[in-house]
Parts: sequence; structure tokens; C-alpha cells
Amino acid sequence: MKHISIFCITALVLVLSPENSYAQRKKNVEKIHHGAYVIDTHTDAPMKLVDSYFNMAERHEAPESRIDFPRLREGDVDAVFYGLFTGQRERIPENYDRAYRLANQMIDSTYAAIERSPDMVAIATSAGDIISISKQNKTAICLGMENGFPLAKDITRIGEFYKKGVRYITLCHTSNNDICDSSTDPFGSENNGLSSLGKAVVVEMNRLGMIVDVSHISDKAFYDVLALSSVPVIASHSSARALCDHPRNLSDDMLRALAKNDGVIQICILGDYIVVADTTMVNYQKIKELKSKYNNWKFINDEERQRAWRAYDSIDHMFPPVLPTIAQAVDHIDHVVKVAGIDHVGIGSDFDGGGGLADCADVADYPKITAELLKRGYSEKDIDKIWGGNFLRVFRAVEEEAKALSR
Ligand SMILES: [Zn+2]
Repeated sequence: MKHISIFCITALVLVLSPENSYAQRKKNVEKIHHGAYVIDTHTDAPMKLVDSYFNMAERHEAPESRIDFPRLREGDVDAVFYGLFTGQRERIPENYDRAYRLANQMIDSTYAAIERSPDMVAIATSAGDIISISKQNKTAICLGMENGFPLAKDITRIGEFYKKGVRYITLCHTSNNDICDSSTDPFGSENNGLSSLGKAVVVEMNRLGMIVDVSHISDKAFYDVLALSSVPVIASHSSARALCDHPRNLSDDMLRALAKNDGVIQICILGDYIVVADTTMVNYQKIKELKSKYNNWKFINDEERQRAWRAYDSIDHMFPPVLPTIAQAVDHIDHVVKVAGIDHVGIGSDFDGGGGLADCADVADYPKITAELLKRGYSEKDIDKIWGGNFLRVFRAVEEEAKALSR
């Protein structure tokens, strides 16, 4: 009897002790987060490397920077895509050249940064690499290209960038290009979706084993890609249009089509794609003024681009935007799960390209997303799929198709 009562009291103390349950919950979050392959499919980290000789091996603070190698380790991140972003400019020879050179500069500086920190990171060019680098307790750095502008209508450049380690191409950015229409070009459609060059690009990417990224492209181009691609595709950083009506986000019909293609949408945690922008916010108005001053980010030269990004940073600093929360971002995950299923959703932060939430400022904060998913009742298996399992499935399918095609 005495034993039973001691047992009962101990159990009661354990149950009632908030500190203990908090510690247990934290431990559980850490365990599940560590057990999952945590993969972020879109960041703009290389822009910092090119613009300001940013030291990736040093720890920085948000909001000025949201990714560096120490924080990738802190956030227990298994893989992250470094986006080779080139803004769309007027399609004249010198701008094609500039985009090509900038993409190569970003590749070179990313490799150089990785080589200087072999204890923390390694380059990954396959799904298998991601797994083996994770097993060495390092973060795998993968390369993706945001905007096919550097291809300059030359299909052979896809193979050239593939050899340099690039594993996805976001076909366009905020304006139309030679490959396809953009979802946000102020002048509307130019190619009626995917152009004939764009069709050849998709076929070549399938052949090589490069993932087609449908983020940013117009709805018509999206359906054209799905009709043509022989393998699943990704939206590396897009959210759900039903919750935030932005043309960059995917409608429910598009989500269902993506599920049918066995692809994956990686929820973009950039404020404007999570909640409809509050146009009365000072930050919103200042950024809008800046955008029109710089011709909608269509820069004339590199100096101008650097000046614009510096001005952007200082606006964010002086008039911090009111950012959405992790809970609001996870609402998008819930929505995709409801419409397309648990096998078709992941996360692509857009960090250092505008991404960031009030309570998820940088890659070190990722366990907080895991905590929210757990709170909402997602199982360990579900969380593993969301963080990386779904993306890895697509990556492997693309690799296998390329192998089959080369036989
Ligand atoms: Zn983007």
C-alpha cells in the first residue's frame, strides 16, 4: 500500500509538473526533428556571397542574414538548396552574358565557401549524397537555379550547369522569359504557357536528371510542364492560393494536378505568400516605392542591383515588417495535406530572398516548425515526409528516369 501511494504521488508530480512536461516535449521535438531529413529547397544564400563577400563559416544574426553554416548545424538541417538567382532583364546579348556570368560566379563562390568549411558542410548532387552527408553530421549544400535566363536559349547549357552540380531549374522568375510565361509578368502572357524552347528545356532536364521547378511560372505554363514532363516536378517555394490569393501560389486544382504527377509543393515562408499583404504597413509602402524606383527589380547594372538590395535591407531594418507566424505557415501545410495529401508537401524558405516569419527568423529556428507540426497532431512519419521525405522521393524518381533514358 505504502509503495502504491509513493508511486501515485510520484506519477502525480510528474503529470502536474509543467517544467517536466515542457522538457519532455522539447526533447521529443528534438528527437523527431533530428530523425527527419530536414531539407529546405529554396534559399537565396549565394546572393550574399557574390555581393558582400559574406563569410558563411561565421554565425550571423537575422534579419540581416538568415543562413550560414553554423546556423544550418544548429537547426539540424540535412540539406539546403542554394539558389543561383538572376533577375530577369531585357533579353539582349549583354544581359544574357551577365546572367550567365553571375550564375557561374555564384556557383564558384558557393564551392569556395564549402571548401573552407569541410567540417560543417559538403556539396550534394544526388539524393544519396544528402543521406550520406547527413550521416556524417554535416549539412548537404545543393545547387538550384532560379530563372532559366542564364541558359540564353542554349539547350546545351543545361548539361553544362548539370555538370557543375545544378539539380533544379526554376524555369522563370517574376517576368516572362524565353522558356515560359511568369505568373506575375505585368504584361501578361507572351508564350501561351511553355514556349517551344521551354518544351525542349523540360525534355532535356528529364533526360539529364535535373528537377523541373514550377515555382513562379504561369498557371498555363504549369499545366504545360505537367503534361510534358515524364517525371514528378517540384514547386521549390510556393504556397496555397486558397489561403493567400497571390498568382505565385498554387490553386487547389493545381495542387491536385501536382499530386497526380506525384510531385511536391514546398511551402514558401515569405510573408506575401502566407497572408495577403497589409498594404497600409509602412514597410510595404517603402518597398513598393523602392521597387518602382528600380524598375521592378529590372536592374541596369550590378552596382544598381547592389544599391537596391542595400536599400531593401535598410528599409526592413528601419521599418520592420509585421511578419506572419509559423502557425499561419503551417495552415498552408494543413491545406495542402487536405487537398493533395501528405505525400505532396514540404518546405522551401526563400531565406535571404525575402523569406522569414515572426517566430522563424532563420534556419536555426526550424525545430520550432517541427514543434508546431507535432502540436497539430502530425505523426513522426508525417513530419519526416514534410521535412524531406517527399522531396527525396521526387529527386530519386528524376534520377532513376534519367538513368533509364540513358540505357
Ligand atoms: Zn523566388
